[in-house]
Amino acid sequence: MDLRPGWLYGDVTGTTTEPTTPLTAADRCDRCNAQAYVRVVLPVGELLFCAHHAREHAPKFASVATHVQDETDRLLAEHGAGAGAAG
Ligand SMILES: [Zn+2]
Repeated sequence: MDLRPGWLYGDVTGTTTEPTTPLTAADRCDRCNAQAYVRVVLPVGELLFCAHHAREHAPKFASVATHVQDETDRLLAEHGAGAGAAG
């Protein structure tokens, strides 16, 4: 989905700040240190949340976030429908 012209930015491959980088098991919730499934990009940085805290803080970050990467679908895919209470 990222259609930035490469000629303008030069070699951008390998960047670690690309907002659309998939979340991994190394990404942890800023609140409880569980595995993060939601990345909230803010003008001043970014926050990572587990599914539980993403829901809890959604009303706060929704108005200020420039991008929200929601991968909570993967939580269900990886842990089954009973994972709702986890996190
Ligand atoms: Zn959490």
